[in-house]
Amino acid sequence: MKCDECGGKVVKKDVLFSVYGEELGKFPVEVCTKCGEELFDEATSQKMDEVAKKKGVWGLGAPAKVTQVGSSLAVVINKRIATFLQLQKGKEVYVHPEDKNKLIIDTS
Ligand SMILES: [Zn+2]
Repeated sequence: MKCDECGGKVVKKDVLFSVYGEELGKFPVEVCTKCGEELFDEATSQKMDEVAKKKGVWGLGAPAKVTQVGSSLAVVINKRIATFLQLQKGKEVYVHPEDKNKLIIDTS
C-alpha cells in the first residue's frame, strides 16, 4: 500500500491513542513511514469513540460563551467539562494564555 499524501510506504501498526490525557488503548492503524500520516478505517474509528464514551471523554470539547462580570469577563464551562476536571464553584484555578488564541485553565 502507498500513502495518498506522499506516495511513501504504508505499514500496519498498533498505535496507542489517548484523549484529554485518558488512554483509550491501542488500535490498528496504517502509518506512512515517510510522512507519518495515520489512516484508520471506519470500524476502528467507531471503536475509539465507544471507548472514549465509556471513559467519559467523548466530545468534551464545546463552544462556550464569554460573559461579563463587573469589569471582567467570564467563560461558562459546561457541566460535563466541569465534572471531568472536578471543578467546583469557588475553586481557585490558574488562568494563563498559551498564545494569542489559547487560554489555559490550570486546575491542579
Ligand atoms: Zn505519506
